[in-house]
Amino acid sequence: MIRLVAGNWKMNGSLVANRVLLDQLEASPGVEVAVCVPYPYLAQLQQRPGGLALGAQDVSEYAAGAYTGEVSASMLAEFGCRYVIVGHSERRALFGEQDVTVGRKARAALAAGVVPIVCVGETLAERDAGRVMAVIGRQLAAVLEVLGVAAMASVVLAYEPVWAIGSGSSASAEQVAEVHGGIRAWLVAHGVEAESVRILYGGSVKPGNAREIFAVADVDGGLIGGASLVAVDFMAICGAA
Ligand code: PGA
Repeated sequence: MIRLVAGNWKMNGSLVANRVLLDQLEASPGVEVAVCVPYPYLAQLQQRPGGLALGAQDVSEYAAGAYTGEVSASMLAEFGCRYVIVGHSERRALFGEQDVTVGRKARAALAAGVVPIVCVGETLAERDAGRVMAVIGRQLAAVLEVLGVAAMASVVLAYEPVWAIGSGSSASAEQVAEVHGGIRAWLVAHGVEAESVRILYGGSVKPGNAREIFAVADVDGGLIGGASLVAVDFMAICGAA
């Protein structure tokens, strides 16, 4: 399966800064490259380098109606989004997003033909307590419960240890191997066609560690935060995938 490297711009950018960044991005041979941008910039990103896929960072669980401030999956589809991040740890921690909501958002995305990038991952306290796969299993089970086994095979998963996000140091290759293998085994155990699910790693991926991380078994790409805002770094990471 073709690898995916998705940039998560988070709440960064401006019309001018985006243009400068986009002018330096290009398709990377043999890897799918996507940028997940703040909603207002989806219009600007209609003009982007060929081969660069577009994504958003959140989506409403609802299809339409009286939900002030929400953005529907069909709106994202209208703007050409192929992907949408759901359940990022910042949304879980700062905006109270619950496991079941993440599942409903994934379902709304799939219904509109947008592929959800479902983020899972443990906090440092959960890791220290030996609860890594228990936490991730709980997060995955909530999504599986909403989607069912067939649709579950259509999502992209991103393992993002909360303690590695924005910290400057990623999980080690051994830690990544253990969790990615654990996620793949979890999918198999729950009857999901696991081989078709891409499992991305996210959390302080940089040009200096990308090659090592992408070489780990069961790593099918990356979700890149800070380094996706620096064109040469993002292109180096895509080149390593
Ligand atoms: P980071 O963020 O690459 O800046 O650690 C990753 C993410 O939050 O998706």
